Amino acid sequence: MYLLFQYKLNTGDTLISKKHNEIFLFCLIHSIHGFYQFLFVYFIQGIHYKKTSVKKKGENLYRACVIVAHPDDETLWAGGTIIMHPECLWEIYTLCRASDLDRTPKYFKALSVLNASGEIADLDDGSAQEPLPEIEVQNQVLEWVEGHHYDLLISHGPNGEYTQHRRHEETSRAVKTLWENGRIDATELWLFAYGDGGRAYLPRAEANAPVQFKLPIYVWEKKYYIINEIYGFNQESWEARTTPKVEAFWSFNTRNEMSNE
Ligand SMILES: [Zn+2]
Repeated sequence: MYLLFQYKLNTGDTLISKKHNEIFLFCLIHSIHGFYQFLFVYFIQGIHYKKTSVKKKGENLYRACVIVAHPDDETLWAGGTIIMHPECLWEIYTLCRASDLDRTPKYFKALSVLNASGEIADLDDGSAQEPLPEIEVQNQVLEWVEGHHYDLLISHGPNGEYTQHRRHEETSRAVKTLWENGRIDATELWLFAYGDGGRAYLPRAEANAPVQFKLPIYVWEKKYYIINEIYGFNQESWEARTTPKVEAFWSFNTRNEMSNE
């Protein structure tokens, strides 16, 4: 490339004046210098990055925790966010359905695709949907997260994500209360921000929620794969048709802010 440039300079068949030639040479030398500088920085930084990422593993990565009511809620409402943030160590805890022999293995498969660790409990989720005592929900959550520090805590929205699932609301309330009281140590709390307009439409991101992620198509496809292929919800199912392309969250980073809501 350099020889080619020299040839053009020396042939004289261009009308570049001597002064222009000098300017051109000046730029050329600096470009080459810049290119070598870039290579140097690239390789040095590359090595540096590799070293720090190994050192960081399990130590300094952001630690994020998702607490949901059912296996599939983690993917439906936050799957894209999880996929898009591999810099976080994701822990996902689910309150109901541990004894569901169909759903539980799928849940752990989903966690492995999401590159997350997690557990599932077996709080009542019968068709009657009797209210759960709040203390029972809180105790289960504390069993998983008490004594740990999280940079980010994510859970259901105060009104659930659609009309209406009691377990979603109960989960949100328990997590919010524990965080407000300092029983869960998390720098930031995000609650799912979706609505269905009182069943007028499929649940979708609330436009005025402060945290929004418009999912790149490959991220949405991975999320859809988990819903469709791993959990087995067919194309016509409510879950598959819902699978949001935009994920949204209400965010709180001080407990006072939350108390004023
Ligand atoms: Zn659910």
